[in-house]
Amino acid sequence: MISFSQVYKRYPGGHEALKNLSFTIEAGEMAFITGPTGAGKSTLLKLVAAIEKPSSGSVVVSGQNIGKLRRSAVPYLRRNFGLVFQDHKLLYDRNVLENVILPLDIAGLPRAEGMKRARAALDKVKLLGLEKASPISLSGGEQQRLCVARAIVNRPTIVLADEPTGNLDAEYAGEIMEMFKSFNQVGVTLLIATHDESLITRYSSRVLHLKQGELS
Ligand code: ADP
Ligand code: ADP
Repeated sequence: MISFSQVYKRYPGGHEALKNLSFTIEAGEMAFITGPTGAGKSTLLKLVAAIEKPSSGSVVVSGQNIGKLRRSAVPYLRRNFGLVFQDHKLLYDRNVLENVILPLDIAGLPRAEGMKRARAALDKVKLLGLEKASPISLSGGEQQRLCVARAIVNRPTIVLADEPTGNLDAEYAGEIMEMFKSFNQVGVTLLIATHDESLITRYSSRVLHLKQGELS
């Protein structure tokens, strides 16, 4: 489903963020990417999401070679993804339901079907009943669950999460992880970047350790 072969990533003017990465993630796998800040975790996820292209080597996702992908093909590929990224902020001038339904509106789904799916997504993250609330009134853990609902509302086959538990205390962080595990149990492929090693010790999932851009 996700295959890296001898991948290097060099940012303009920067040093190598990723060096000679080769690995494969099978459909239905849940894998963690760990390593200290600057190790290249975000870069790896951005390559999978076609936000960045590899400098050399190949990244193949759902049969598509990311390095050779035409710009016009990117939105089609992205439909398979749910992204929980730090720069995808919630919209504080819209309510909880509107935040979740937005990706479906953009995809052109009929409103009634959108409502149904948005409620189902909110149910999965245990936020049903808060549809009309403003995201700003939610706790940090609830806001993060809302980000997860927004990421899964289009029923993605792959979920990519970059430090999804970043600012949360242990209890909330555990909830998010359990949620990801339940998505994985229904067949979603997950790739989760975290610097927090303590969070993943209780899961038997595969761990890719990055150190200065290399797998160790
Ligand atoms: P992590 O997510 O593990 O903290 P990143 O993938 O964000 O690591 O960064 C890996 C390296 O690439 C770091 O040295 C970082 O400064 C550099 N880097 C990341 N994004 C850019 C960019 N857009 N331009 C230049 N350098 C970058
Ligand atoms: P993360 O830990 O999630 O990678 P960062 O704070 O490292 O977040 O990066 C925030 C943004 O800045 C990202 O879009 C990243 O690509 C960019 N960035 C990171 N390091 C550099 C850098 N050295 N030069 C330019 N842009 C960078």
